[in-house]
Amino acid sequence: MSIKKIHAEISRLKEEHLEILKVIVRQKSISTKGEGVRECADLLKGIMEKGGISTTIFETDGQPLVFGEVKGKSPEGFTVLFYGHYDVQPPEPLEKWDSPPFEPTIREDRIYGRGTGDNKGQLITHVLAVKSYLDTVGSLPVNVKFLFEGEEEIGSPNLTKFVQEHRELLKSDLVLTSDGPLHDSGAPLIAFGVRGVMNFDLHLDTATMDNHSGNKGGVIPNAIWEMVDFLSTMKDGKDRVLISGFYDDVIEPTTHERELISRLSYDPEGLAKIYGVEEIPLKKEEFYSRLLFKPTLTINGIKGGHSGAGTKNIIPCEVTAKMEIRLVYDQDPEDLMEKVKKHIQMHNPKIRLTREEEDMRPSRTSSELDISKAVIRAVEKGFNETPLIYPAMGGSLPDYVWTKVLGVPSIMIPYANADEANHAPNENLKLECFYKGIHTSAQVINELGKTF
Ligand SMILES: [Zn+2]
Repeated sequence: MSIKKIHAEISRLKEEHLEILKVIVRQKSISTKGEGVRECADLLKGIMEKGGISTTIFETDGQPLVFGEVKGKSPEGFTVLFYGHYDVQPPEPLEKWDSPPFEPTIREDRIYGRGTGDNKGQLITHVLAVKSYLDTVGSLPVNVKFLFEGEEEIGSPNLTKFVQEHRELLKSDLVLTSDGPLHDSGAPLIAFGVRGVMNFDLHLDTATMDNHSGNKGGVIPNAIWEMVDFLSTMKDGKDRVLISGFYDDVIEPTTHERELISRLSYDPEGLAKIYGVEEIPLKKEEFYSRLLFKPTLTINGIKGGHSGAGTKNIIPCEVTAKMEIRLVYDQDPEDLMEKVKKHIQMHNPKIRLTREEEDMRPSRTSSELDISKAVIRAVEKGFNETPLIYPAMGGSLPDYVWTKVLGVPSIMIPYANADEANHAPNENLKLECFYKGIHTSAQVINELGKTF
């Protein structure tokens, strides 16, 4: 019965909730410039405390983390941790905004402003759900924790270390993240995993300078040709990677995961238009199994020689290929890197491999766990619509921090509209999405309480 009262309370407080969202959107928190981030953390702490959540700010080597906690009916019982980020992308180019990025503005059925969708508007739904729960029934059926970080938009450089050092504080049975958009059709979706990503550069020098391609043509090596030859040893003509052991730890989708894929929509003609390609010659199962369950080896770019206007008859002396691997569960970046190095040793040991960015490991949670089933039921009730279940997603997020570092299941339930324009001018959140998010978060807490 009480959940009905809670939903009624959430509906009654619509305007008040929207005002709270406006307050945090108004506060800049641009992590890449460090602008206003700490002020936003303080503001968020204040909002959480007013909602009955005991809140602490934790310092890191970068921006602070905001941690909140509400104990449920039995402190030893089930605990759900909501993760989100309160930092935002820079708003530029400013002239492309129809209203100022840090002055939240309602137009038609949306709120516009930097961070409305990504991620302030989504993380605050969890806070408001807990607040409504407490205001209505006075207690929660499960323990709830919150961890909101201020550096997601710059790659979460301090998150892993914080989680490693605060296992007891963050101890929970499930991590829930609401970030990113709903399905294009507006249907809710739930994602149970992501691919990982690792980047590396391949460099090759074949001489100390570019040489005349006539005077020395045919007698000295060409760096770009050598690199092209090497790159072609990495893959066959059928898109299969030839690095020995590359597919060793690739786990095939389960029968249940295949079944989930078969329920997803697939419109290859429509997608081809969106992607700007002539066609997508893949059947549905092949399309999704490649996108969600198979690793990739991608050449992001090749730099070297002369590529400007006109001719320049040289034998280029150096080349760099920028490479990327998307990893799937249960591939390990360190292991794969060793395999790439062995491949280099075997085919062209003069090539040097360098890495600048940190790896992001892949992550997956089974959608067949009782926890997963409870969340699926709750989302269906919260949205009043059957959610699409993605056993994994093609893209990469630091979800492994929860599944592999903290060691708990992690589920992603995006609440924003598909055209939220995150990272772009006129970022927005449909009010309907915002309100449905609050209802859904309350429903999730309720469902977990009933189940565990
Ligand atoms: Zn973002």
